[in-house]
Amino acid sequence: MLPLLSTLAGHVAQRTALARLLTVGRPAHALLFEGPVGVGKATLAGAVAATLACLRPQGPDSPHPGDACGDCRSCVAMGRGEHPDVARVEAQGRTIKIDQVRALTPRLRYEPVLGRHKVVLLLEADRLGEEAANALLKTLEEPPSRTHFLLVTSRPQLLLDTIRSRCQTLRFGPLAAEEISVVLAAEAAQRGQALDPALLRLGAALGDGSISAARLRADPAWHPVVTAVVDAVVHLGLRPVGHEVGQVELLAALIPAAPAPQASATGDADGDTSPKPSGASKGKGMDRERLLVCLDLLRAVLRDAVLIGAGIDARSLPHAPWAEALQALAQRVGVEPLASAIDELERTETESVYNPSPQLALEATLAAMARHARAGR
Ligand SMILES: [Zn+2]
Repeated sequence: MLPLLSTLAGHVAQRTALARLLTVGRPAHALLFEGPVGVGKATLAGAVAATLACLRPQGPDSPHPGDACGDCRSCVAMGRGEHPDVARVEAQGRTIKIDQVRALTPRLRYEPVLGRHKVVLLLEADRLGEEAANALLKTLEEPPSRTHFLLVTSRPQLLLDTIRSRCQTLRFGPLAAEEISVVLAAEAAQRGQALDPALLRLGAALGDGSISAARLRADPAWHPVVTAVVDAVVHLGLRPVGHEVGQVELLAALIPAAPAPQASATGDADGDTSPKPSGASKGKGMDRERLLVCLDLLRAVLRDAVLIGAGIDARSLPHAPWAEALQALAQRVGVEPLASAIDELERTETESVYNPSPQLALEATLAAMARHARAGR
């Protein structure tokens, strides 16, 4: 489906500015979309590309200024993902290679074939290799007529200053949890599925403003992982010493069944909101990637327990379905020992870079958290 500027999630101010730029303004030859991973920058850039190419874009007086019309020949080609005037350049392996930039040249030399403008969409533009960046810079210095470059990045500091200075920059921030819920629910509806509302809320709240992170957390495959983590937290200090070994093994075994966060985060680094097939983690056991996922989830559950203990309405928190169990934990252990347990996690996270055994690190962390919980009784 063709993404339209007016129907995308969040970023109201930026979308309004873009709509103005596309209807009454003059967009620069190069626009830079920068902001955190997974907030929808690539999708927005795709919508801008569609408008730039559209043969009848919605004018300033239309109900949706800045939108592509959706049904001209250009829009139909765009919707199919096969527009002859729109090139999408992504890293091959770790970098965008010079050959990929050179391959654009013939296309840039001629007038648009189908659309009003030609568009080059550069995803993860920070991955431009040195030679490729210099080749692109040359093109930006003498921009071909009726051509726009849309650069998307979550790491603008890695772009050449000379490239950045040639671009008009649009900055995007994290999305609100409600905005993410809307996107995930719409994606599920498009697949003919309905997401479990509790899981949807949890995913949106744990996504930290990123659609791709939230999409992972809301995936039904994650439910057993979250349940196991909540179970580990609500029983802190109640189970025999040494029980942590089994818990870590269980968590390590559950996570490979879920989509691997790294694999998906890379494939979707710029927040393209189209659902992508998710890969599974390679190998078994608690590697560093899984350790960080566990720490992240543990922290989120503990944070909710602390907030519930401090009297915050549990219904407003991500782990609302477990509110009663978390309330009981907060009463049994007390808020301070739970806060100490969070400190423990953060220490492990910092030290994980140097820790040769994530399995042992998580066991030790869970054991230390259990000690804090026992001390709180
Ligand atoms: Zn159109």
